[in-house]
Amino acid sequence: MSQSAVKRLYLMQVGIMPEYAIPIVCYLVQTGDGKNILIDSGLPELMPEGESEFENGQDVIEQLASIGLKPDDIDTVISTHYDGDHAGRHAAFTKAQYVVQRSHHEQAPGNARFAFTRPQWDQPMERIRLVDGDAELLPGLELIETSGHVPGHQSVLVRLSKTGTVLLTIDAVPFRESFVRDLADDGSDADAIRASTNKLLDLVEREKVGLVIFGHDPEQWEGLKKLPEYYE
Ligand SMILES: [Zn+2]
Repeated sequence: MSQSAVKRLYLMQVGIMPEYAIPIVCYLVQTGDGKNILIDSGLPELMPEGESEFENGQDVIEQLASIGLKPDDIDTVISTHYDGDHAGRHAAFTKAQYVVQRSHHEQAPGNARFAFTRPQWDQPMERIRLVDGDAELLPGLELIETSGHVPGHQSVLVRLSKTGTVLLTIDAVPFRESFVRDLADDGSDADAIRASTNKLLDLVEREKVGLVIFGHDPEQWEGLKKLPEYYE
């Protein structure tokens, strides 16, 4: 395997929605040649008014520090989408390039839902890499476009040497129970959510994904390895 391939996947819980014990999480991928790629950054340091259902835990910066990493060691931040529990600390990573779906980034300034996190994600364009649809970021790390939860949401596929292929669904499939074909849902964007769910189910079959990590599943989360442990 080439040195630039993915070597480790770390999972961190950075916060919680206490009412349902729902974990707020982000991920770190390390390559054999020493690149550090963060996937999402968790909740903002100070929660906005009206967001009292969220509670900060040990934040991403403290957790990275516990394995010897400073914010400036992060080369890339894969931004799955700009919701407050995913993009809340983006601006802390001042040396990183942000990778986001073009369709997500371009609609965000006009979408009130992403106004609160705007100081985090509204970075100079030379620091943002816009992606159109599915894309391989580097050997063993692929972005999967999964619009529905929000336009231009992305999930992430990670190929590891021992664990095998891991799918991070993020909010395309927040809970294991909704990872079913032709999901019945009549909310807004139901068709897009269903299409993304089916796309990920197809991907799991085609790529023989051994581990599917759901975006916010309390039961599954309990049984997963968390930083400082990792998957390799
Ligand atoms: Zn979320």
